[in-house]
Amino acid sequence: MEELLNIDNVSKSFPLNDGKTLQVLSDVNLRILNIPEKPQILSILGPSGGGKTTLLRILAGLDKPDSGRVIIKDGSMREVKIGDIGVVFQRYPLFDDQTVLNNLVEPAKNGGLSAQEAKAKALKYLEEFELVRQADSYPMQLSGGQRQRVAIAQQLIQERRYVILDEPFSGLDPNNIQKVINLLTHTAEQHTDNTFIIVTHDVTSAMIISDHVHLLGKPNDTEEKGGAYFVKEYDMIAEGLAYQPDIEDLPRFLEIKKEIKYVHFPRLVIARN
Ligand code: ADP
Ligand code: MG
Repeated sequence: MEELLNIDNVSKSFPLNDGKTLQVLSDVNLRILNIPEKPQILSILGPSGGGKTTLLRILAGLDKPDSGRVIIKDGSMREVKIGDIGVVFQRYPLFDDQTVLNNLVEPAKNGGLSAQEAKAKALKYLEEFELVRQADSYPMQLSGGQRQRVAIAQQLIQERRYVILDEPFSGLDPNNIQKVINLLTHTAEQHTDNTFIIVTHDVTSAMIISDHVHLLGKPNDTEEKGGAYFVKEYDMIAEGLAYQPDIEDLPRFLEIKKEIKYVHFPRLVIARN
C-alpha cells in the first residue's frame, strides 16, 4: 500500500530549569499507509503529559525535532513543512473579531481563491457543518461544538490533505463526545481523500472512531527516563472493529480496551467506561 506519512526516528527533549533535560519523545517511528476510497481516521492514544501535543507540533512542522524527521507524500516524498497538515487545536482558537462566515472565507482566500469563489466555498462548508444560522455570529457567541465545527471546516476549506485534532473529546460529557464522534466519522466519510489524525487520551473514543490506534507511551507505562514512542498498534480493520456502529459491546472491543487499560497504560484515566 502507498505510504502517506512517515515519522522517522523522531526524538525531542526540552531543557528544564535545573539544567537537566526532559526527554519527551525517543525514536518515534510510524508509517501511515493510504487506505484507498475509505474514510481514514487514525488515532494517537497516550496518557496526559506523554508527549502527544509535542509530537503533533512536530508533525505540523511547528516545532523541529532534535533528531529524525517527518516525511510526507506530496507527489514525491519530502520533509513536512508548515501548512501541510492542518491542526485543530484544543479549545479551537478562531479569528474572534471576524464573523463565522469570514472565519472560513479568509482561509479560503489564503488558499488562492478569489473573494467570490471563497465565499461560495465557505457557504458550502457552513451548510455541511450545520453552521448556516451562525454565519453572521462571532466566535464568542458560539457553543463549544459549533467552535469545533468551524475549526475543522477552516482546515478542510484550505484543502489540507491531513487534519490533526488535539484532544477533540476533552472536557465533554458522554452525549457530546458521541456527537463529536458522529461528526468526525461523517466528515471522514464525506472527505475520503483526507486523512484525519486524532490525538487523545480517551481510549474508548479512540477505539470507536479509528481504523488504526497507535499507542504513544513507554513500555507497560513505566516511569523510566527515556521519552515515549509507539509501543503498540491496533489495526481495527483487521480486528473487524472498523467502519461499524455499536462495536462497543463486541467481546474483542472489550478485550482490547482492557489490554490498553491494564497492560499498556495502567495509569491512564479512562475518560469513559
Ligand atoms: P500530552 O499532550 O501528551 O499531554 P505534551 O506533549 O504536552 O503531552 O507534554 C509532554 C511533556 O513535555 C510534559 O511533561 C510537558 O510539561 C513537557 N513540555 C511540553 N512542551 C514543553 C515546552 N515547550 N517546554 C518545556 N516542557 C514542555
Ligand atoms: Mg496534549
